[in-house]
Amino acid sequence: MEAALRLSEGESHCKTFTACRSSFDTVDPEEVSLCFYPSAGSNESTPATPDVYQDETQDAAKLAARNEHSVSWERPEGVGAGLLNTGNTCYLNATLQCLTHTPPLANYMLSQEHSRSCCHQEDCTMCAMETHVTQSLLHSRDVMKPPKKLTATFHKDKQEDAHEFLMFTLNAMHESCLRGSKHSEGPSEDSSLIHEIFGGSCRSQIKCLSCQGTSDSVNPFLDISLDINTAQSVNQALENFVKPEELCGENAYHCDHCQEKMPASKTLTIETASKVLLLVLNRFSDFTGGKVNRKVSYPESLDLRPYMSQPEGGPLVYALYAVMVHAGMTCHCGHYFCYVRAGSGKWYKMDDSKVERWDVTSVLSEPAYVLFYVRETELNKGSHSRGRNPSGSL
Ligand SMILES: [Zn+2]
Ligand SMILES: [Zn+2]
Repeated sequence: MEAALRLSEGESHCKTFTACRSSFDTVDPEEVSLCFYPSAGSNESTPATPDVYQDETQDAAKLAARNEHSVSWERPEGVGAGLLNTGNTCYLNATLQCLTHTPPLANYMLSQEHSRSCCHQEDCTMCAMETHVTQSLLHSRDVMKPPKKLTATFHKDKQEDAHEFLMFTLNAMHESCLRGSKHSEGPSEDSSLIHEIFGGSCRSQIKCLSCQGTSDSVNPFLDISLDINTAQSVNQALENFVKPEELCGENAYHCDHCQEKMPASKTLTIETASKVLLLVLNRFSDFTGGKVNRKVSYPESLDLRPYMSQPEGGPLVYALYAVMVHAGMTCHCGHYFCYVRAGSGKWYKMDDSKVERWDVTSVLSEPAYVLFYVRETELNKGSHSRGRNPSGSL
């Protein structure tokens, strides 16, 4: 059983990466047309002329002008633009595509609520993400470059772990939200739009097997990491996740009541369910760098209720909307791509600049690395009816 509560890990990770921009300046324009392939026999993916955005600032201005006349900013039905591989950037591209197609995040970004009141636009990850998501969703079937403002502090010209980049980006967005809220009368210090969308919490209960006394702690998470060494399915991995674990021998628990180390049982359950649930299938070994390639099935619709601290009550249904896949033997080589569900409900494979219609049955048979689920109750919500302060906090 392993629960990775990534919040603090991601935060420390932020500080260890330094800026590196060199790889983005050497894009061969030929590459755009070379790597854009329409899918055969499908009118869904007939591409427009590939369009690479060289100047993000100029484009944002055009977009703002366009949006002034836009009556509705509800999420468009179409799939977002493809992303150019500018040199080992498939892991960045796949991550950005999954975030772009996250319904509550996309709705918020399309509303432009954040940038309207942001005072740090030049170096703000939220502003950069807002521009990227909006451009991508409004330029369906084009090809864009992954924006430097979102990638430069992480990318060092080589393949990295897409999940690490995902957590790095979420934490950077969270920090941007907090920075915006420093002077506003926001709610609690650490609350942000990002934690509101992706944040949940896990309860860890340790029970002393001698005196039966229990000790509880609740820890926040942005994602849940699942051990897949013995699981055939995500449901089975979640069952293992909440299965009581014996703490004995070296791992015995120091019981305050018994005043000594005692055998105990430890149970993890989900205390509060997030709006968006990120499930990471632990495929990479920290020690060997090797990969668990086994197939683990996952459902299109997932009920989280059985894994909650309160297992009574109605179903807590989540819908799958993105699947990140890694092809290759270690996390530092190979290739990342993803499948996403567009606003129309149709599935697409997004492999760098190549975007194709895909059927859900094929999506569900892929060896997933990160699964993106959204609460069904969040699927059709816009954010325009909900009041937020300028930082994006509720
Ligand atoms: Zn901003
Ligand atoms: Zn005890």
